[in-house]
Amino acid sequence: MNTILLADILMPTSMGIQTPKINVERITNNTPISELSGAFLDSLVTHGVKAAGSMTYSEFKAIEATWPLTAEGIRILKELYPELSNTDMSTWTYGTSEAYCSQADKRNLAKRFSDEQLRKLNDRGIRIEDTFYLFKEFHDPETILAQSDETLKGVIEGYYKANLSMSLGTQTVIGIQSDPPPGYYTYLNFPGYGYDWFSNDIATTDYWMSIQSARALRTQQVLYSSTDTNLHCTNMYGTYSQSQNGAHEGIDFAIGTTPSIYATFRGVVLSGGQTGQLSVYDANAPEQPKTYTYLHMSYKAVSPGSNVAPYDYVGNQGNVGNATGYHVHFEVEAGSTTALHSELNEHHVQSLSPYQLQSYIGP
Ligand SMILES: [Zn+2]
Repeated sequence: MNTILLADILMPTSMGIQTPKINVERITNNTPISELSGAFLDSLVTHGVKAAGSMTYSEFKAIEATWPLTAEGIRILKELYPELSNTDMSTWTYGTSEAYCSQADKRNLAKRFSDEQLRKLNDRGIRIEDTFYLFKEFHDPETILAQSDETLKGVIEGYYKANLSMSLGTQTVIGIQSDPPPGYYTYLNFPGYGYDWFSNDIATTDYWMSIQSARALRTQQVLYSSTDTNLHCTNMYGTYSQSQNGAHEGIDFAIGTTPSIYATFRGVVLSGGQTGQLSVYDANAPEQPKTYTYLHMSYKAVSPGSNVAPYDYVGNQGNVGNATGYHVHFEVEAGSTTALHSELNEHHVQSLSPYQLQSYIGP
């Protein structure tokens, strides 16, 4: 019995790593949902369940898994996974959908590599599901494979340790001694992206994850002026990021090396910032003035003071500044600023959620 239980929780490791790799989906989380986002209580009310703040996260997940998918949920999943377009999903529940997304996201990870690259990963003992962590740090297959075994092993093991310490509710987060409240992060599936720890500062129910994935996809389609329906995110907003010792403040998109990049929102180009940083300020943005920042640009086609509108060409993706691998880091800040929240923030997301803005993006 114990052996079966352990096999269910302990997973095979990459590169002979000795740190246990645990299946966090199988770990019971006793954090009361009242300590998490209000979205949990809201969705209980929506489904006619008497809201109880003492309900634990695992109890909530068990109830949520039985709820039928809404029409909007089905539409979003068909958008994120076009292979479902002809599938009858009328009997699908949140549980069915989570199991499907989990498998599909693993298949999609493998598709990011060529056959030759897959062979190299295999030769080096790197399991395909662990490349999820490598993409968070290095963004593209070439850059991942260019790293030494020692480097890759260190990154993968770091994420194993983080999963372990956060699941056990200890106070140690990789690399630093810190004091995040228990349950500060919640492990969830972000359809099209995969399983990750999400900061509870943002709405973290599976329903919201689907909507936020769809919104990130819309951002990507404007950013690259592309109709590609596959989400090419390597690091999402609010997720646990080893190199930042905490929450990632923006969304990382990675397609190829130096493709053209287009403005996602209107505004005036600011001066200053890091090498490869493009910041666009909109004093009349909905709700409050905002700055939209694109990092690691290999080329900037617009100068400070010029106005840009959505779909305007603004430059090219790159691997410039504090970057390892070709990608665009897209971050939203309140007010007129080129100073970003990063690195020192540890566990709190201090930038604005890019997901909340996507309803303003045009078709
Ligand atoms: Zn980033």
